[in-house]
Amino acid sequence: MELCSREDCTGCSACVNICPKQCIIFDRDKEGFYYPQIGDECVQCGLCQKICPQMKSNKKDFVPIKAFVGFNADENVRKQSSSGGMFHAVAAEVLKQHGKVYGVEMRQKSCRVVYRGIDTIEELKLLQGSKYVESEKEGIFQEVEVALKKGKPVLFVGTPCIVAGLKSYLRIYYNNLITCDFICHGVPSGLAWDEYLKICKNRTNKKLNKVVFRDKENGWGQSSTRLIYDGISYVDKDNANIFIKGFLSNLYLRRSCYRCKYKRCYESDITLGDAWGIEKVHPDWYDDKGLSLVFANTAQGNNILKRVSRVELKELPLDIAQTMNAAYELSAANNLFREKFFKRLSEDNFAALVNLYCGNSLKYRIYRKAVQCIKRLAKDK
Ligand SMILES: Cc1cc2nc3c(=O)[nH]c(=O)nc-3n(C[C@H](O)[C@H](O)[C@H](O)COP(=O)(O)OP(=O)(O)OC[C@H]3O[C@@H](n4cnc5c(N)ncnc54)[C@H](O)[C@@H]3O)c2cc1C
Repeated sequence: MELCSREDCTGCSACVNICPKQCIIFDRDKEGFYYPQIGDECVQCGLCQKICPQMKSNKKDFVPIKAFVGFNADENVRKQSSSGGMFHAVAAEVLKQHGKVYGVEMRQKSCRVVYRGIDTIEELKLLQGSKYVESEKEGIFQEVEVALKKGKPVLFVGTPCIVAGLKSYLRIYYNNLITCDFICHGVPSGLAWDEYLKICKNRTNKKLNKVVFRDKENGWGQSSTRLIYDGISYVDKDNANIFIKGFLSNLYLRRSCYRCKYKRCYESDITLGDAWGIEKVHPDWYDDKGLSLVFANTAQGNNILKRVSRVELKELPLDIAQTMNAAYELSAANNLFREKFFKRLSEDNFAALVNLYCGNSLKYRIYRKAVQCIKRLAKDK
């Protein structure tokens, strides 16, 4: 049985969850990304191929229903969220209906980034905030299916490819399921993350508890990474953080992220992102506390956005909203040095490699611009 190619596989885990023989192993490869591998007990039933979202063609003529700029009116929630805190508002609405919310938490101390389901508002803080690492998600689709079959309202949040994986795995439409994805730059490698954590652990003799991306101490536009140790925390501005530098230079993203098939073709009910550039369109709407760009992609998504409480939502023309955030429509550009980076990672120092391969040389900047132009031209054709 052939699964989709390594270049295309998003690691969504739909095949692993569907296999009736449970013979698909899901493990990290040498670059630190999860890939499925079919075991000897395979009976060639073909289910894994049938539900692989990467082996299907895209939904045709995708057009969102409405777009908004919004934020959560609870200042504290907004501060703890990466953008404007719209995820919290939608999740709170589902929890109010005694539903279940599935998202990604960073575990205390181990700093592993793992999917989990929650049932209470108090637990929501565990899921808030972006974790810029590939998540561990084995078995989560089966758990979601059980909750759906019990008739519970369910909100599932993830990258566009994971949401596509869940929908494909479920195969039938559940009217108690709401899906929410986000505009996605790409997903960094778990191995790069482990190497970065080693650096964090050497920074002080205190125990590292957690890393918070997109900390807003220096504002939303100047976001930072906060390292929380026992009794002490450090805040690195993102332009000075080595992990963010490699992430934003596309040095260690998953292979499929450089050719993401969900750009401008989202399968979820709601898509969230940062409302970057809103100050150019509506200077009066801008503040530095975080603003979400929100797309209602389906009638169900639009309905829940009408019901959420304690939010400010202002409608934006679709054509403006769809071009405000480059990652909405474009995949990450290849980094010329990605292969070299992974080849050398087992022997060389992580920080030194990031600095070496994410320089701001003229050659590299011209190359990136050229790739972006070519991609834009190909899309416009
Ligand atoms: C890897 C990654 C890349 C991103 N790239 C961009 C980008 O290029 N442009 C942009 O505008 N926005 C990007 N985002 C989304 C953005 O950072 C915010 O998460 C989003 O706008 C929602 O913000 P919020 O304030 O409403 O909610 P938040 O409280 O920030 O909610 C975050 C939600 O994302 C989920 N989540 C967090 N980490 C992961 C993960 N690793 N895998 C799956 N789900 C996760 C959480 O469970 C939670 O539901 C990215 C997010 C991630 C995780």
